[in-house]
Amino acid sequence: MSTIVELKELLAQPRQIFITTHHKPDADALGSSLGLAGYLRKKGHSVTVVTPSDYPDFLAWMPGNDEVVVYEPRQNDAQVRDIIRRAEVLFCLDFSCLNRISELGEYVRAAGGTKVLIDHHQEPEDFAQLDFSNPKAAATAELVFEVIRDLGDQDLIDTGIGECLYAGIMTDTGSFRHPSTSRNVHLIIAELLSAGINLSDVHRRIYDSHSEERLRFLGFVLKDKLTVLREYNTAYIAITAEELRQYHSKTGDTEGLVNFALSIEGIVFAAILIDRSQAVKISFRSVGSFSVSEFSRRNFSGGGHHNAAGGISHDSLDATVTRFLGLLPEYQAQLVAAPLAAVPP
Ligand code: 5GP
Ligand code: MN
Repeated sequence: MSTIVELKELLAQPRQIFITTHHKPDADALGSSLGLAGYLRKKGHSVTVVTPSDYPDFLAWMPGNDEVVVYEPRQNDAQVRDIIRRAEVLFCLDFSCLNRISELGEYVRAAGGTKVLIDHHQEPEDFAQLDFSNPKAAATAELVFEVIRDLGDQDLIDTGIGECLYAGIMTDTGSFRHPSTSRNVHLIIAELLSAGINLSDVHRRIYDSHSEERLRFLGFVLKDKLTVLREYNTAYIAITAEELRQYHSKTGDTEGLVNFALSIEGIVFAAILIDRSQAVKISFRSVGSFSVSEFSRRNFSGGGHHNAAGGISHDSLDATVTRFLGLLPEYQAQLVAAPLAAVPP
């Protein structure tokens, strides 16, 4: 039986459904979760979305946001474990390994309900009974659209659900410029437009709703914190915990900064290393053939996509930067040779 037919059978009666997504959800993580939740509620299911951490304020406009349970280990652990235990179906969206959802990972692994993975990251872990992962997809929201369509319910995608899905596709394609922006992506956007979504509203809510302080922080980072290493076609930014405090940086305020480093002519590899106190969190981006998911997997216990990945270090910020710089000679040939060669989608 095909996976979609199995899912259709599973959802043929009202179910207790749990949906979760990755740590520090971005627009694709939250948009695909709330888009799916909106659809499942319309079908008569009882749905709880649990995020493993908080997320930026610029995502709070999404319909269903008010019902999201944000997991806080010392506060609602018992409540969240109970939701997971009672769930008949557990949807895991926009992450491929259970270690990406902190303690929730082990609760989900132990859960008795049917696990459904909808994701577009490379190298998915084998933990779900129904697996809709496809690393060629531009966004998890694209896959959620296809699942709803293939269940025969595209007509249930209303403006609210459509705008959640649009937000995920818009951000994960870098506003429709990454090579993942396929014909299929544009056809789906056309369908979402037919459902009545307002593209410019979504764009404005996500990209043009920052605080003045965040913009000043951006100015500081670009002026004082950006290092360009021409011999490696690489640029990076390292931010200390003290600098985050000084600019009252909130969740989401550092999102997208790494793209400025990548926007320099000739730069093919960019990184931002941020001291989050418990650990140094790193974002990697590239253009062309250099695989940051491989770089991150090999060196920083991370992963992601060919041109966008993340990783972690438990060393100090300084030691992490030194380690990062020490790795570059090994990759110099890749970074300088034919760096803009075609990328596999
Ligand atoms: P970002 O740099 O925006 O946090 O993440 C870029 C991409 O890499 C996203 O698709 C994200 O889900 C993935 N990613 C970020 N951090 C990690 C990590 O620590 N491990 C893995 N496997 N993927 C990550
Ligand atoms: Mn995604």
